[in-house]
Amino acid sequence: MRLISSLRKIAIGRRKNNAVLAIRTLSTKSSTSNKSEKKRKLPDDGITLSHFTQSSQHKSVKKEELDFGPLPTSAPLGLESFEHPHRVLKFHLKTYGCQMNVSDSDIVRSILLDEESNISDHQITFQETQEEMDADILLTNTCAIRENAESKVWHRLQELRAHDSKNPLEQLPIVSSQDENEINDHDSRRLPKKKKAKKRKRIIGVLGCMAERLKEDMFKDGTADLIVGPDAYRDLPRLISALAPQPVTSSGQLHFENPMMERALNVELSFDETYADITPVRSNPGDVSAFVSVMRGCNNMCSYCVVPFTRGRERSRELESIVNEARVLYEENGVKEICLLGQNVNSYHDRSESAILTNPQVSEEVSSTKYKAGYNTSNDGFSNMFRLRGGAGYYFVDLVEAVSNISPELRVRFTSPHPKDYPPELLSLMAERNNVCNHLHMPAQSGSSTVLERMRRGYTREAYMELIDDVRRTIPDVAITSDFITGFCGETEEEHEDTLTLMEHIQYDQAFMFAYSMRGKTHANRTMEDDVPEEIKSRRLQEIIHMFRTNVQLRNDEHEVGKLRLVLVEGESRKSKEGARTWGGRTDQNKRVVFPSKGQAPECWSEEAIRPVLSALSQSYPSNMNVMARSDMLHSFANSPRVTVEAGDYAVVQVDQARGHTLKGKLLWRASMQGFHELDLEQSGPDAIPLFNAMA
Ligand code: SAM
Ligand code: SF4
Repeated sequence: MRLISSLRKIAIGRRKNNAVLAIRTLSTKSSTSNKSEKKRKLPDDGITLSHFTQSSQHKSVKKEELDFGPLPTSAPLGLESFEHPHRVLKFHLKTYGCQMNVSDSDIVRSILLDEESNISDHQITFQETQEEMDADILLTNTCAIRENAESKVWHRLQELRAHDSKNPLEQLPIVSSQDENEINDHDSRRLPKKKKAKKRKRIIGVLGCMAERLKEDMFKDGTADLIVGPDAYRDLPRLISALAPQPVTSSGQLHFENPMMERALNVELSFDETYADITPVRSNPGDVSAFVSVMRGCNNMCSYCVVPFTRGRERSRELESIVNEARVLYEENGVKEICLLGQNVNSYHDRSESAILTNPQVSEEVSSTKYKAGYNTSNDGFSNMFRLRGGAGYYFVDLVEAVSNISPELRVRFTSPHPKDYPPELLSLMAERNNVCNHLHMPAQSGSSTVLERMRRGYTREAYMELIDDVRRTIPDVAITSDFITGFCGETEEEHEDTLTLMEHIQYDQAFMFAYSMRGKTHANRTMEDDVPEEIKSRRLQEIIHMFRTNVQLRNDEHEVGKLRLVLVEGESRKSKEGARTWGGRTDQNKRVVFPSKGQAPECWSEEAIRPVLSALSQSYPSNMNVMARSDMLHSFANSPRVTVEAGDYAVVQVDQARGHTLKGKLLWRASMQGFHELDLEQSGPDAIPLFNAMA
């Protein structure tokens, strides 16, 4: 069984208006807690759990003061003790925000579709539907990083409620008890008086960061019925079962009572929940790339960011469970690229018992040269906001190495990192391994040291630039990408200019740029003023977008056009059409490349046909033996059979054009990753290009 359901205590009370509220009172146990019942020791950094849960606990205490009557101690109201028929409830799941949310939605899907757990615990089987109005439960996984992300969700919830009222679900023969006492009894043998059937509302649920940030406030205006934070997804089947009409059988007939509760909430954050034992059910199982979540939460407390409050403390999955998931994706599901995922992915630290045994603390001597007993930050100019780093266990470099060991044909990437956690060992590993992608996300946020200080990023402009120099020295063909926030509290024109000059200097391969949005609870919210007017934020945002676009064009014209790139083919492009078919994929540097295809599937040479030509080119011949004159070799090459390319194949594409950060090219041959790197195209590529053009 994939899930171990946990019994949790809830306080349930009936309001005067007959609505029922569920409030969490006791701490949850994650599935891993049976391994270790010991209380986790809080790091001595002055940050306590109350930093993350203050608002909910505060509100809970107030509500607990009300008399809610007897509190049941297991979920929900002893429902399991009755013989109920199984129900099938359909859910629709919509995801907003970052990849972490997409990955969390895959976990939610897995939890709800886990028949074994649902049937035994809640007498409900869940089915997913892509049609909103076909669903009994409408779940929205939300993002709280900026105000406009939240506005979109509020708008959606209002629309859903309006659609739901106009298109009620098929009516169930609902019976309603004559008074509250009868409902409290839950005596299915005594069928209450039949009342007029009510309209059945869909259950509207809010999941994720916004649920965690706003908690009970999300019930406002009746838009939501169910609020579940990012660490409480295991509780979903139980909470939904309490919100669904309750089946009762009487005289052999099935009827439905009103739900146990009208609203349900679980927003408890956890110190150890990683959902490691849950196999995500991916929304696009045919994709050639898959995200594997390796850690959750963030300890950095950048002054503008709400993530530490919505996602809680950092915790990492055991290395072995990650490698196993990645292996299954590669060996059984046709995945060719694994993207390791976390809010702060390169802070990964597996401190499990087995990790500590295998990778014990480094000696005092070594530790004195490293940051806190065994951990190295990127370079001297970077500091950790979170003081307790280091010690035994596996670090991110160990994880990347282990996943890349699965197969030399499996690509490994990661997102989203923090620049402080790029120790030299990680950069060297990336340089050595062909299957660890040459792409580093280095979110700078600002090019001004004074803004970076106010942002509490733990580095200066100079340290950041030095790191980029190190990276480009170690991994020459690397792509560097970044995030920027413009208009942060107190940002002056000079500080904004610093961001523009940094961008011009680095020439990023991709950038994600945002206007600053003040978030509640953050350090900036408590101590600074959001004093850059909206029109100035938006003008500055346009300026940095323009700077990025100008520079990415220059960079791609200089570094990409003319190159032979190994592309992981993803399939036919979205813009492809009859008569002008195009396919696309991504380079090692994570650049999108599109190339034309004459037929339904693209055709090209095989690696076997290409190899002798390229090895001949890389040898030196007497000047009178020009390779173009070797007609025997060219003849057999020209007559070699063409092969087709499918999604999931690697292929070599010659880039002939750059449009911003998207590249266009010509498909040359189907390749393997190892075969491509063995060809040593640095050597033979320049000579090969005229040859391929002549043959095409
Ligand atoms: N962990 C990554 C890091 O350290 O850079 C970033 C992850 S964060 C979820 C994604 C991006 O959202 C940030 O890099 C930042 O640029 C942006 N962001 C976060 N808080 C923001 C805010 N209050 N206003 C505007 N953008 C914000
Ligand atoms: Fe937010 Fe900073 Fe953590 Fe990134 S590192 S998630 S920006 S607090």
